[in-house]
Amino acid sequence: MVVKGNAYNLEIYKDNHTWQEGDFQVFRTTQWSAPGCHNGCGVLFYVKDGKVEKIEGDPQNGWNCGTLCMRCLDILESMYDENRLKYPMKRAYEDRGKNKWERITWDEAYDIIEEKVRYIQKNYGNESIIAEIGTGRNVWWQVPWGCFAGLQSPNQTGAFLSGDSCYSPRSSILALMSGEYLTSDMSQMLPDRYESNEWVVPQCITIWGCNPIMSNGDGYLGHWIVEAMKRGSELVMVDPRINWLSAKAKHWLRLRPGTDAALAMAILNVMIKEKLCDYDFIEKWTYGFEDIAKAVEDMSPARASEICWIPEQDIIDAARFMATAKPMAMHWGVAIDQQPSATPAGQALICIAAVTGQIDNPGGSLVTRSAYNISLFSQEGFEDNITDEQKEKRLGMHKYPMRGTGISAMAHTDVVLESIETDGASNDCEQYPIMMQWMQGCNPIANMAAEAPRVYDAICKVPFNVVVDVVMTPTAMACADLLLPAAMGSERDSIRAWWWPLRAISKITDYYEAHGDEQILLDLVNRLNPSAAPGTEVADWVNDLLANHSDADFDFDYLKEKVIVWPEWHYYKHEKGLLRWDGQPGFNTPTGKIELKVDWLEANGLSPVPFYEEPHESPYSTPELYKEYPLVLTTGARSYEYFHSEHRNLPTIRAFHPDPLVEVHSETCKDLGLEEGDWVWIENQRSRCRQRIKYNNGLDKRVVAAEHGWWFPESDPERLFNVFDSNINNLTTQCDIGKSGYGAAYKCLLCKIYKCTEENSVITPTAQVLDKGGFKYERKRLG
Ligand code: SF4
Repeated sequence: MVVKGNAYNLEIYKDNHTWQEGDFQVFRTTQWSAPGCHNGCGVLFYVKDGKVEKIEGDPQNGWNCGTLCMRCLDILESMYDENRLKYPMKRAYEDRGKNKWERITWDEAYDIIEEKVRYIQKNYGNESIIAEIGTGRNVWWQVPWGCFAGLQSPNQTGAFLSGDSCYSPRSSILALMSGEYLTSDMSQMLPDRYESNEWVVPQCITIWGCNPIMSNGDGYLGHWIVEAMKRGSELVMVDPRINWLSAKAKHWLRLRPGTDAALAMAILNVMIKEKLCDYDFIEKWTYGFEDIAKAVEDMSPARASEICWIPEQDIIDAARFMATAKPMAMHWGVAIDQQPSATPAGQALICIAAVTGQIDNPGGSLVTRSAYNISLFSQEGFEDNITDEQKEKRLGMHKYPMRGTGISAMAHTDVVLESIETDGASNDCEQYPIMMQWMQGCNPIANMAAEAPRVYDAICKVPFNVVVDVVMTPTAMACADLLLPAAMGSERDSIRAWWWPLRAISKITDYYEAHGDEQILLDLVNRLNPSAAPGTEVADWVNDLLANHSDADFDFDYLKEKVIVWPEWHYYKHEKGLLRWDGQPGFNTPTGKIELKVDWLEANGLSPVPFYEEPHESPYSTPELYKEYPLVLTTGARSYEYFHSEHRNLPTIRAFHPDPLVEVHSETCKDLGLEEGDWVWIENQRSRCRQRIKYNNGLDKRVVAAEHGWWFPESDPERLFNVFDSNINNLTTQCDIGKSGYGAAYKCLLCKIYKCTEENSVITPTAQVLDKGGFKYERKRLG
């Protein structure tokens, strides 16, 4: 496949799957983690003597069209980092936290796991085992399958990400309102990409709550937006921070973090009051328009202006442009999920796409599924491996019924945490303790676990822990009893289908005794429940998926040869009867329409229409707290260098971005006697951490933006690599989530900042947690 219009020399970049070039064997494949990522870009690995010597972006791969970001360009440093885990290792329970590991064989590791799992299953029940995953490292469909088929537990979960605040909230409300997933159209469904006659360049791209050129999140590449901009697209950017995209936007709405629902409702208010909606689409394809009109009636731009700290006229102008631009593509990100209002905010955004009629049209918001309908992303497909009785024991399903929609089949993270803390007394189903954690591709205390010191206590409380990772992490050092080395880059076979097209990942090289994540899980299932295993090799598993759980008519060998294959794409699927199970036109919802008003929510005690709820800790909801902590804190903005907590061990990457940064307006700094580069304590009523000031005068002066994911691999492993010192999740909280069970306040808290001095830095946060029993404050509980 040749990408039209690219300028690469096809004499050099051949069409083959592999070829010889001088001393190198060149392999065409897809790179996907580790290091972690949400994509799977086409690459050429140049291999000599069994070792990768060079990586290049594959110019013939229509997904990334030859581009790579710095994380992949530096993949060799990742793959051959001296700190990589090379062998399975075990450690005595009493040595947790100590760097006292003993090398063992894979068979010995599996023997230990099998013995422990069978003991726990017999004495406590399968559900007492939790399988935890993080984002990115190609484990999102593999671990759920391993959990259900191998451990035979219903409890697979995102590792302590409070409120499941990443994609699950959006996917859940999308499933309820549209029966499908939506993503913005940057021509990624079409092999000819930007040259395709079918694609229409969006006149407007609304980017809400994400910075795609840094994060490349959600199966989507940010530079596609740049390509669309080159072809004329203009942006509406909704972001509290100025960045490359917001600086170039036609309309930049700098909202107060956590007020997305109010802003989206005000935009709907303008569209409806000024009759700018697509009434033909509304009439034919939506349900509940009158209810939405009523729900947003009181959210005038003037009111939203006060709530969101955005000038009223800016809201009106942006709403008019979004409504009248044809087509308009909506791209939304994790900031929607990381607030207690995740569900109503997501609901309002979907309403904007629907009332403007920008659904499944070229250049609009596409209704998408995994390529060839391969059942990877929807973990429900793997649930056949557990009984209905076991499903009833999944933590959080009774308390939060919305979890049965979207990316479902997951135990609720906050309920899992409370279950560990209370030995099962707070379970929302039958009481049982948590006896084992299988942690694969996650590093919660360094990365996504809100209230990290609390989670540290919890993970250390569980009697038996297995961690699968590529390097020694703070989480592994804190709590692992068994540590299994995972393969990365060119060392694993797999596939990638989030969303479109389908891509092969080919194993080309080996690294000591590291195994691919898929192989480890397949081995686990073969040990524990062999009748559920589709074979013993990853190829067997992928072939089973392709043959029995997809529409594909080819096998893994074919896919590896082609690397990337594009199913036929259809726009306007709802008009053609291509969405519903009965083949009729419409959407996969009870009404067959996009449900602007969701009766299911009402039936389950939730609001059927969007509403605005003030962040739980804010200048307005907690004015007394605001006096003490007078800055709004948003956390977790992405950088070019890092994927969450990864890459801190890589010298080249670290040279670009050596320290944790908190962005502050220079005038705010001046008022506080601070300067750029100063180390400051960021503190709230729970705890504190330290980061360095970077000026960002695009921020509101009342808002600061702190990075997440920081640990220091160069420091003492027995101090957990000082993981708490700069950890912004010392300040976040568990168990203070949205009514739907989704969304926690990673993006909208309060804090103060002040300069680090020798006197106020005697006891570091890591010392406070490891030596002094942690920080003293009242921990929140689920209601
Ligand atoms: S988005 Fe970046 S890190 Fe991810 S696969 Fe592509 S080049 Fe690599």
